[in-house]
Amino acid sequence: MKSKTDKLLHFDRKHIWHPYTSIENPLDVYLVESACGVRIRLSGGIELIDGMASWWSAIHGYNNPHLTEVVQQQAAKLAHVMFGGLTHEPAIELCKILLSIAPDSLERVFLCDSGSVAVEVAMKMAMQYSFSKGCKQKNRFLTIRSGYHGDTFHAMSVCDPETGMHQIYQGALPQYYFAETPRCSFSDPWDQNDICSFEQLIATHHDSLCGVILEPVVQGAGGMRFYNPEYLRQVRALCDKYGILLIADEIATGFGRSGEMFACNHALISPDILCLGKALTGGYMSLAAVLATSEVGRVISHGEPGVFMHGPTFMGNPLACSVALASIELLLQSDWQENISRISEKLWAGLEPCKTLEGVKDVRVLGAIGVVELEKPVNLQAIQKRFVENGVWVRPFGKLVYVMPAYIMDDNEISTLTSAICRVVTEEVSNG
Ligand SMILES: *Cc1c(COP(=O)(O)O)cnc(C)c1O
Repeated sequence: MKSKTDKLLHFDRKHIWHPYTSIENPLDVYLVESACGVRIRLSGGIELIDGMASWWSAIHGYNNPHLTEVVQQQAAKLAHVMFGGLTHEPAIELCKILLSIAPDSLERVFLCDSGSVAVEVAMKMAMQYSFSKGCKQKNRFLTIRSGYHGDTFHAMSVCDPETGMHQIYQGALPQYYFAETPRCSFSDPWDQNDICSFEQLIATHHDSLCGVILEPVVQGAGGMRFYNPEYLRQVRALCDKYGILLIADEIATGFGRSGEMFACNHALISPDILCLGKALTGGYMSLAAVLATSEVGRVISHGEPGVFMHGPTFMGNPLACSVALASIELLLQSDWQENISRISEKLWAGLEPCKTLEGVKDVRVLGAIGVVELEKPVNLQAIQKRFVENGVWVRPFGKLVYVMPAYIMDDNEISTLTSAICRVVTEEVSNG
């Protein structure tokens, strides 16, 4: 007799696609029964300390009693209503609080479903801005290598062409410009040569560019790199010099993750368009927001057709908006900045010992993000199993073993997590 768990997993294995996974020969998946705080409970009762916060999103941990109650109350009142011609308090209050914490110049908010859609929206906005100004030839984008912006078509077109996992679609993608990956790391002394490639490309192509898009300071899924804020400051200045909109993709970095509320704050700059997602709802559901300056709104409104051409079915979903509002309020009520530096110190103390291991290329920490970069790609199937056996949930990709825990993780839990990483990485590099 097969157990219920086996039956469920059997169906899953036969029929359900998982992210970046073969449908016919999938990697193992684990059945989750519930999750609370920083712990994921698997069917069978095994509990794992979660290092991933479900890909940057569950910043307050799972099943936060207040957030859960907010969702329940909102569901009983108004789960969803179309946003065309109608509005509601959860959306209005959410946009109000977003504008109060975002860089000052941002004054217009577009709500949408997910990070990739937010990137599409931001790129469409930049393009429509140029069209509205009468510059129809300005429809290209400039970005930097090692970036990741999502899996939809235009988002793919600005992901790193090599690490971006989208090579096979290359022929169908618009061809944009890629500056060299910034080399100067977050804490390195600034080297003016680092900006040369970007400066050259913007100088050569500004007549055809409508926007620059990048992840400020922290490059996520494209390589988990932390670059020097001076790079971002100079990108801002160059965009101003050539009159090109700067789109900051803070879908991963928003809401304190890098130690500042937004990673742009490290460079004291403000983008023209800002994309938010992932942690926006505290990991409860999918929602994203695109914030723009009133100048972007003004130009689009005064051009043809005068309206911004986008409007998803679930735009401004009240469930998502109400939990996002509550999640941001929770964050603001906490001593989040001090807490992130606590996590940062603990992550560094716990991961630094990996630095001396043969086969480990680098260990780096910024804010509540810890990265161990190996020389070679890991064997995902095997290493995943070892992490679970060690009681933690860590999901590496390629050469990167990385964590971005919930902000509520205490010192002991961080040390359990980092010890497990050191153990498993030690095995991995000695086997490989
Ligand atoms: C995750 C991510 C996206 C895509 O968001 P989805 O919600 O997965 O579509 C875009 N940009 C960055 C920087 C991300 O980390």
